[in-house]
Amino acid sequence: MKVAVAKETYPGERRVALVPAAIGPLRKAGLEVVVETSAGAAAGFSDDAYRAAGAQIVSREEAFAADCILTVRTAGANGDAWPADRDRLRAGAILVGMCDPLSAPQACREAADRGVTLFSLELVPRITRAQSMDVLSSQANIAGYRAVLMAATTLPRIFPMMTTAAGTITPAKVLVLGAGVAGLQAIATAKRLGGQVSAYDVRPAVKEQVQSLGAKFVELPLETGTSEAAGGYAKAMGEEFYARQRELLGKVVADSDVVVCTALIPGQKAPVLVTSEMVARMRPGSVIVDMAAERGGNCEGSVADDTVIRDGVTILGPTNLPAEVPFHTSQLYAKNVSTFLSHLLKLGLPEVTLDDEISRDTLVARGGTLVHPKVRERAGMPPLDSLATPGHQAPGS
Ligand code: NAD
Repeated sequence: MKVAVAKETYPGERRVALVPAAIGPLRKAGLEVVVETSAGAAAGFSDDAYRAAGAQIVSREEAFAADCILTVRTAGANGDAWPADRDRLRAGAILVGMCDPLSAPQACREAADRGVTLFSLELVPRITRAQSMDVLSSQANIAGYRAVLMAATTLPRIFPMMTTAAGTITPAKVLVLGAGVAGLQAIATAKRLGGQVSAYDVRPAVKEQVQSLGAKFVELPLETGTSEAAGGYAKAMGEEFYARQRELLGKVVADSDVVVCTALIPGQKAPVLVTSEMVARMRPGSVIVDMAAERGGNCEGSVADDTVIRDGVTILGPTNLPAEVPFHTSQLYAKNVSTFLSHLLKLGLPEVTLDDEISRDTLVARGGTLVHPKVRERAGMPPLDSLATPGHQAPGS
């Protein structure tokens, strides 16, 4: 079986699906690996390094002619770059990557129409045996780190406390909203930089994790008993809850020099946690990094991929932080994708089984049909119950 690494074409995307170190194990597993010319260049991996690892360097046409194409972004996650790729895909090809299936199901439908077998890595179930394939975690972790660095270089203050002959500097107060994978790394990074860190998450289970990093958990008198869904994700809580949360968070936000927003609900618009009125109460020069900007934002007025200044507060809305540290995010992504591929090979790829949870949950399209129940629902298509996909359950359903 020939596996290809396609060069990413999404604007600003510098990651690559496989790094040279990941080629050897795949070749040992019996795969022939081809890599599109300069696919890894933006991440710091030369064509020579791939050649030395045993891969052949090929054109884009040759890459798309392989049996299996590995990408970082494909389908809906590839924006305007998707149609050109779609038109290169041949029926029966296996396509693996992040495809934003729940927000952009139409592109998955188009992949299905091409007869492609499409696997979406965002849908890897959050179970112990799939942890090493979990791209959301590997990428969010580094994004959380990067968000804090962005805040630190934008803030007109330094993070650590310093006692100098010229006077004492008090530490920056950093508030992290949402303490999932990205949030916990943001907390750890802000602590390493010497910030005075506090954090809030709607899932009560997170309190201990926040405290174990040496940060303060912000306690809000809110009923959060039902806030956690399957897989450790947060559930949407309803507007009344969010209104109360904003009211209670107002004082903490006003007292922060930096707010890093990471709160997300899978497949939904991000909850608004910081209103314009709350921003206006912050000290001038304060910084908000809204990591949820791509999903509508946790902070009112944040603009995706732009910087706005409101009432003296700088609000950053980065949407692709992992691409800003492409060497390491690619290294981790490559481990995720090669573990995933090895897993499917053990299950008999190119045959696809639905008896395995990882294979079943990530399979979006096969044999000309959009097969994933949740993606079908998002695409406005009826369930496939009557067809041959017994036991196919949407994640979180
Ligand atoms: P995410 O990116 O969907 O959300 C980020 C955080 O925002 C979550 O912690 C969520 O609780 C929080 N949030 C949502 N609404 C909020 C609100 N109104 N106020 C404050 N916070 C809010 O989630 P994620 O970071 O990808 O993962 C969340 C959790 O899933 C992890 O912390 C972990 O417990 C679990 N997880 C499990 C596995 C596994 O078992 N293999 C893998 C990865 C993650």
